[in-house]
Amino acid sequence: MISSVSRRALYGLATSSRFESLVKATGYTEDLAYRAAKRYVAGRTLDETVETVRRLAESGFGVCLDLFGEGNDDEEGVRRVVAGYEEAAAALSGTGGDVYLEIVPSNLGLDLGVDVCRRHVERLVELLPTGSRLEVSAEESWRTPRIMDLTLALAGDGAPLVATVQANLKRSPADVERLLEAGVPVRLVKGAYLETSEVAHPWGEPTDTAYLHLAHQVHAGGAGLVLATHDPVIREALLAAVPSAAVEMLLGVREDDARALVTRGHTVRIYAPYGQSWFRYWMRRVAEAQGT
Ligand SMILES: Cc1cc2nc3c(=O)[nH]c(=O)nc-3n(C[C@H](O)[C@H](O)[C@H](O)COP(=O)(O)OP(=O)(O)OC[C@H]3O[C@@H](n4cnc5c(N)ncnc54)[C@H](O)[C@@H]3O)c2cc1C
Repeated sequence: MISSVSRRALYGLATSSRFESLVKATGYTEDLAYRAAKRYVAGRTLDETVETVRRLAESGFGVCLDLFGEGNDDEEGVRRVVAGYEEAAAALSGTGGDVYLEIVPSNLGLDLGVDVCRRHVERLVELLPTGSRLEVSAEESWRTPRIMDLTLALAGDGAPLVATVQANLKRSPADVERLLEAGVPVRLVKGAYLETSEVAHPWGEPTDTAYLHLAHQVHAGGAGLVLATHDPVIREALLAAVPSAAVEMLLGVREDDARALVTRGHTVRIYAPYGQSWFRYWMRRVAEAQGT
């Protein structure tokens, strides 16, 4: 109960601009916080990030690079995000790593409309290295219908995407059906946002069971399956049934497991977010590290 309250409280802090401003009020407090956040963050600058990508690639990992940000609701801000990805793609072109790009749709103007977002995402698709894919993050459930519309529209144009499906959402089996029809690979996560019981299963057994069902649904439907979880029981049960599934993990979480999976011959991709807006992401990870 106490840990569940603290998880909820930490989620509250993760979305509190006042708390973020307080932490970032002085260089000293910001550096102190960043020192703790660093394990989860590829870098604040592009130079640091390129170094992290190089290190991950040398260890046999694929990388999924995401420029921090969410809820970007002015076009000028969205254009700056696109320019950031352009800079990153150029800086990474020499690293030779297996790098996917990831987008949080609301960081690319989803709240301004699906078409606005789509126009900007199309530019990012052009930046993808050969053989690479664009992974589309899942956000709060109120954004899911628009993220689905965006994903299916882009997939209809032939964009090489990976969709993210949250196991905790009750709508997910129906979303998976639509993604299967469109031939879009699915990355399965438990779900990082606090949702109401109307739309979501509780954290724990109900979400874990939903995860297993959805993974089998994706596999039976013939789409690529990506297991984005650090839960060793779920992961091992599914890898035994679907050895071809890829695994994705967050930078800084259960790194020994990630290395062991590479040694066993599995494809492992590390989600590596970067940029100046690391605060909310870090708070969510701290909340998850508390458990339920
Ligand atoms: C590649 C990737 C992409 C993701 N993308 C999205 C997305 O687009 N939308 C979304 O809603 N969610 C996303 N998530 C987050 C996901 O929904 C979960 O919130 C998060 O992964 C924790 O769930 P878990 O499956 O690892 O299981 P848990 O049961 O939370 O964790 C299993 C074990 O992993 C370890 N662990 C987990 N988190 C931490 C941590 N922060 N620090 C230290 N140890 C930890 C603990 O040992 C824990 O017991 C993503 C996760 C991954 C791995």
